[in-house]
Amino acid sequence: MQLLIATNNIHKFEELKPLFAGHELLRPADLGIGNFNPEEHGTTFFENALIKAESLYRITGRPVIADDSGLCVEALGGRPGIESARYGASGGTPLSAEEKNRLLLSELEHVQDRRCAFVCCLVLYYGRQRFLCVQETLEGEISMAPRGMQGFGYDPIVYLPQWAKTVAELSPEEKNRISHRGKAAQKMAAMLSLISIQ
Ligand code: IMP
Repeated sequence: MQLLIATNNIHKFEELKPLFAGHELLRPADLGIGNFNPEEHGTTFFENALIKAESLYRITGRPVIADDSGLCVEALGGRPGIESARYGASGGTPLSAEEKNRLLLSELEHVQDRRCAFVCCLVLYYGRQRFLCVQETLEGEISMAPRGMQGFGYDPIVYLPQWAKTVAELSPEEKNRISHRGKAAQKMAAMLSLISIQ
């Protein structure tokens, strides 16, 4: 079936595509919606995913999947969390991924507890007041320096001890097998294969 993906983030879209194989995934731009950018005023990943999904559904009337995700750092009380995209931004200008990673490493300079978790909430919204939701995590540690060229965002600074690699050193297939987004999408795709959302 056709599924609209409520994101302008090409990295998220490319990760989600193979996870929903057998479905046709479209971005807002593919429908001529050029400036899809709803205000994320929620206080949780779930609320923000629901806001994005509902707002694209209201425009299109078609089934929508929204992803709200981010990195929660234990020693920072869960920051940047739902603010991960806007972390360190001053005056509305977002930092680049490299700048955000540098800033996070500097915040943790003398910190021993480096535990962190990526979180991804996926909402499939398919009718007024009708939706499915899955939230998943990928636990790791903030590394001492960036490493790896794959992935996006905070991937180069999230180290996975069981792989002895950062997330940015995983292949796209490896990341999709174990990541927060990969696990949430696998479960969402499994639910979709079992049910009718007509
Ligand atoms: P959102 O668009 O509000 O969901 O922001 C998500 C932000 O969290 C992204 O811009 C990234 O900075 C970060 N993020 C989410 N998922 C990942 C991931 O898989 N790898 C690296 N960074 C991620």
